Amino acid sequence: MATVVQPALVELLKMSGARTRGRRADCPDCGSKRTVSVDESKDVFFCHHAGCGFHGGIATLRRRLGIERQWLPRGEYIRLQRGRERADRLALDLYERVKARRFKLLDELHSLNRLELLAHDAGPNNPESWGALARVYAERPGLLAELLILENSTAAALIRFLSADSEVRERAIAGVIESGGLWQCPGRFVELAF
Ligand SMILES: [Zn+2]
Repeated sequence: MATVVQPALVELLKMSGARTRGRRADCPDCGSKRTVSVDESKDVFFCHHAGCGFHGGIATLRRRLGIERQWLPRGEYIRLQRGRERADRLALDLYERVKARRFKLLDELHSLNRLELLAHDAGPNNPESWGALARVYAERPGLLAELLILENSTAAALIRFLSADSEVRERAIAGVIESGGLWQCPGRFVELAF
């Protein structure tokens, strides 16, 4: 048993030279702008320009483009679909993990900022001010560096970072603090702002 794998209607329209704009497209036959209606739920398209014959469905475009149906063995098709679903789940999972960690870091950052304000308000004659400020200055760079990593890394780098043990993560954070920023491929440097 085999299952058809075919490009979606919009892809075929693009391949036919119809520039799509949302649910409309420019017509490759009569050249009119936005005259082609595209209904993806029914896989049909239709140019409203008087006298233009550009309309039909997926089969119309496939014939026009000379594309044959592509048949895949059913097992391979299912593997392909499962692979896609798995990739979607992983992306969503990664997004949730990064979001949760960012909230936690931002929360800690706000606490440190409040502590810093309190210490400044209490003034240099209050012995607790110095301890509080020392804590703020010791902890804040690490928080900022980790936020920089979370907000600027590629998905692959994020997965490596989040699945690493704490020692490896600490080293990555220390590296960002030391170099004052983060190298992104390809060769873009994001500066760590204090
Ligand atoms: Zn037309």
